[in-house]
Amino acid sequence: MKMFKQEQDISKNKFYSCCIVGGGPAGMMLGYIMAKYGVEVVVLEKHEDFFRDFRGDTIHPSTMNILDELGDLDDFLKIPNDKMTAFTMTFGNKQIALADFKKLHIKTPFIAFTPQWNFLNFLAEKAKKLPNFNLLMNTEATDILQENGKVVGVKALTKNGEALINSNLVVGADGRHSIIRNRTNLNVHNLGSPLDVLWFRLNKPDTTYKKAFANSSKGKFLILIDRTEYWQCGFITIKGNYENLKSKGVVNFQHEITSILPKLKDVVKQLTDFEQIKNLSVTVDRLEKWYTEGLICIGDSAHAMSQIGGVGINLAIQDAVAAANVLVPLFKNGNIPTTNDLEKIQKRRMFPTKVTQGVQVLIQNKSLKPFLTDKNKDDVPSFLKLLKWFPPLRILPARFIGLGVRTEKIEL
Ligand SMILES: Cc1cc2nc3c(=O)[nH]c(=O)nc-3n(C[C@H](O)[C@H](O)[C@H](O)COP(=O)(O)OP(=O)(O)OC[C@H]3O[C@@H](n4cnc5c(N)ncnc54)[C@H](O)[C@@H]3O)c2cc1C
Repeated sequence: MKMFKQEQDISKNKFYSCCIVGGGPAGMMLGYIMAKYGVEVVVLEKHEDFFRDFRGDTIHPSTMNILDELGDLDDFLKIPNDKMTAFTMTFGNKQIALADFKKLHIKTPFIAFTPQWNFLNFLAEKAKKLPNFNLLMNTEATDILQENGKVVGVKALTKNGEALINSNLVVGADGRHSIIRNRTNLNVHNLGSPLDVLWFRLNKPDTTYKKAFANSSKGKFLILIDRTEYWQCGFITIKGNYENLKSKGVVNFQHEITSILPKLKDVVKQLTDFEQIKNLSVTVDRLEKWYTEGLICIGDSAHAMSQIGGVGINLAIQDAVAAANVLVPLFKNGNIPTTNDLEKIQKRRMFPTKVTQGVQVLIQNKSLKPFLTDKNKDDVPSFLKLLKWFPPLRILPARFIGLGVRTEKIEL
């Protein structure tokens, strides 16, 4: 699929009904739905395309339900994707099925793995056919504009210099390092994480070569995201361990990998320099209040999600749907969203956020951290053994990962 690039001159000041900052899953989905239902919207994305290695690759059943409601599911499934019907994990030489999506009795009982840039390009291609949709790539919001305490737009840096973009509502969908939330006085509640993830690529020996998605052994944990030609790998470790591993050198790191998956002994030789390995710190936080007059945050900008369970995209998309359900009728009736309206969006989405983050924090602190600090641990944690002994229980993680805590529908 071709990469989406769009250049547009906004050197002059512009006005849009709604200005969404960030072309990630939350921003693109919200922009697409709003434009599809007749609201003029602009999405600002600071990069020139959607191509980035370190993004989640998972499209969940809940997201595919939304694509189905939009009439786009069949087209989406034409994009090459790897369908995961069960989430299996290896502990040493034991394999255990943790989630069985087939038990969900839904139209798409699987997680579709496709690089996130495919998904975002897909949304962009669909949305750009709509007259109300505007996507400004290479446009980085640098500040919010305020008048009498109300947010009335953003200041942005474009290839052609600075631009002022005025709007009735600004939506911060600019991810976990959100500039939009930093420029407001919204309080962040940091839940902390004891983990870091080291990301790197390994070319596969051949494209048909398969390995389990999640692998662990003796206090080590490795994720392999299959991108046909190569694996995007995530080595999960205790926060701060990157410098320690780096000081021991890349050959030692190769051994760390092969101690989990000995069969990768030739493949890991591709790692010749620690520069190939990027440390992405895991963050779990959320805003206490997601909105102020003229502005609301959604997705990671409102609540940075840990990578545990791979549910951040799911939540971002669900936030976008909940926001569209509130905002579209208001804009279509010529109303400007009030703080009461924005509060409705937060109320709808805070509960799933708290529950999901609660489960992530529990897993990272009570299961992953003890596992990663005990080099002799090779055993399946006892609560996971339950899933092995009672297969019907596998519907619970399947529901949590696949559909999330409160599943949204487009109600427009
Ligand atoms: C390494 C890694 C792996 C992950 N793996 C998974 C996974 O497998 N499954 C899963 O569900 N979740 C995963 N997550 C979490 C998931 O990526 C996020 O929860 C999800 O992407 C949040 O979507 P979002 O749209 O809110 O934010 P983002 O995806 O972060 O998108 C924000 C967008 O805003 C743009 N932007 C930022 N600042 C500005 C600005 N000032 N002006 C204009 N544009 C701006 C960014 O370029 C970006 O495109 C992973 C996260 C990381 C870090």
